[in-house]
Amino acid sequence: MATAPTMIGSTMTNLRCTYCGTEYDADVLQTLCPKDGRVLAPQYDLQRAAQTMTKQSLIGRPATMWRYTEIMPARDPEHVVTLGEGWTPLLRMDGLGPLTGLTNVLAKDESRNPTGSFKDRGLGAAITRARELGITAVAIPSAGNAASAMSAFAARARMDAFVFMPQDTPDAMKAESAAYGAHVFLVDGLINDCGAIIKQQSAGRGWFDVSTLKEPYRAEGKKTLGLELVEQLGWRVPDVIIYPTGGGTGIVGMWKAFAELEAMGLIGPKRPKMVVVQAEGCAPIVRAFENGERHAALWENARTVAPGMRVPIAVGDYLILDAVRESGGTCLTVRDEEMIELTPKIAAATGIWPAPEASSTVVAARKLRESGWLKEDDEVLCFFTAGGIKHLDLAAIPTGPILTPGDTKIGAIIDATLAERGV
Ligand SMILES: *Cc1c(COP(=O)(O)O)cnc(C)c1O
Repeated sequence: MATAPTMIGSTMTNLRCTYCGTEYDADVLQTLCPKDGRVLAPQYDLQRAAQTMTKQSLIGRPATMWRYTEIMPARDPEHVVTLGEGWTPLLRMDGLGPLTGLTNVLAKDESRNPTGSFKDRGLGAAITRARELGITAVAIPSAGNAASAMSAFAARARMDAFVFMPQDTPDAMKAESAAYGAHVFLVDGLINDCGAIIKQQSAGRGWFDVSTLKEPYRAEGKKTLGLELVEQLGWRVPDVIIYPTGGGTGIVGMWKAFAELEAMGLIGPKRPKMVVVQAEGCAPIVRAFENGERHAALWENARTVAPGMRVPIAVGDYLILDAVRESGGTCLTVRDEEMIELTPKIAAATGIWPAPEASSTVVAARKLRESGWLKEDDEVLCFFTAGGIKHLDLAAIPTGPILTPGDTKIGAIIDATLAERGV
């Protein structure tokens, strides 16, 4: 009698340039395509992967992003550097009905990851592969959350970590990176300026640069967003995915996930419409989309309170724009004040306190419903890429009244305060 096939590990075959198609050895450290400077993407033997990665076999696998071993890049499961990232909840958000005019909103709550954002997926995969290929020191330009994530995974892997971030990055991310033992440098500039410093400094110092899409594995970690949401929905896709976009790894990764799942026979040809949201003060992808272009020029004087969206130029611009266009999706901007204003309303209506990036997806959903682009009952998945706790500077922090224990007027003070607040 034939025995059931056991798990076969990663089926990664090689890396392929997403622009010119040239193939490269995946077991040598690679960055961008040496021919055209574009993004390299891992390829897998999907037929072989489909033999053991089945709907049935996934039941009972670890509740982390590494459950999809066959189409993940770690050669040896023993080498995986993990903090339990992934397998975050996909929640119904009925409380958003009155705020958006939509009846069927879902959110993927990525604040449940180890350092509180979905950056843990990308950096978990990148650090795993860097260590597997012999790297001992890593550097990152980051607008915020990526630095926290890289610092945590580098600590876990016992690697040296060098972080370059804008000087006005929220304190939480500066403090996290330092707490995990990274060497933090603050820069009078934006993430692209940080990237230029690393490019200039890393060669002589032996640092490996884990910038978004400049190495092939961060997007593979983000790919698990797509794998998970499909599995959590019972092997189908939603109608629309709204994604707060900076460097765009999440969109690029999810788009690859859907193609791989279809090739493995796990889903059909239907794709969600992919929607890019950017801040009005930094919207290079939206501008390129509106101008019918495949590449997005640098956005001058980028400004927004949402650090993850303060990315003036994206190496993977063509991959993001291709996915949006092929899916029949769209791109739009929202204003900082709209994100800030909606954040406590979302938290109070749903029990999930979103980061400004996550709030931007709800603002976008409301606008797309108002314009008629979304139908009332479309199944819309908003990506809650991080939580609100790292952004205390944007929150309303109660300051009073302060009650004195033993004071006989406590009851009256509570009544007066509640009356003042309209309760
Ligand atoms: C980085 C980040 C984004 C943007 O993600 P990309 O995949 O790089 O476009 C969105 N939200 C948060 C909270 C982030 O940290």
